[in-house]
Amino acid sequence: MTIAVYPGSFDPLTLGHLDVVQRASKLFDHIIIAIAQNTTKEGLFDVKTRLALIKESVKDLPNVTVDAFEGLTVNFAKQKSAKAIIRGLRAISDFEYEFQMSQMNKSLYPDIETVYVMASLDYTFLSSSMVKEVIQLGGNVDSLVPVCVQHALKQVI
Ligand code: ADP
Repeated sequence: MTIAVYPGSFDPLTLGHLDVVQRASKLFDHIIIAIAQNTTKEGLFDVKTRLALIKESVKDLPNVTVDAFEGLTVNFAKQKSAKAIIRGLRAISDFEYEFQMSQMNKSLYPDIETVYVMASLDYTFLSSSMVKEVIQLGGNVDSLVPVCVQHALKQVI
């Protein structure tokens, strides 16, 4: 059984994240979406809400589960016996950070492999921070996030 961890802030989950998960779920036996709790990014939704929104959004993907963790991603991956870390890659601007992170994770835990899923063309421009910015300025993001996230966003603004 090949397990992969997909770590991130998911604040909130977007259709770009979901697209990565759907595609990765065909490559691995089990995907664990893992909400990183120690991020320095300011949160719009608390971790409990993010967990519930992600669970609702992936309920039709039988081999995908959702969890939250503190500390190093590699420690969480080790604890879950994961062989791979999934990350999404959008523009070139993602590359430098992702490259550094994958090298660091490899040096911390040589048995782990980071697997990158290229963003679909439709979602190359899409990020959680962009969604937050647009919503805070009164814009509509219904076409960019799952339905449950649309509802949750309407409650926080
Ligand atoms: P982090 O704070 O760890 O970057 P994010 O929730 O912003 O957490 O992103 C988690 C992962 O999903 C990252 O690898 C990011 O590049 C990827 N990702 C985010 N948005 C998209 C998208 N629209 N298409 C593909 N991958 C994406």
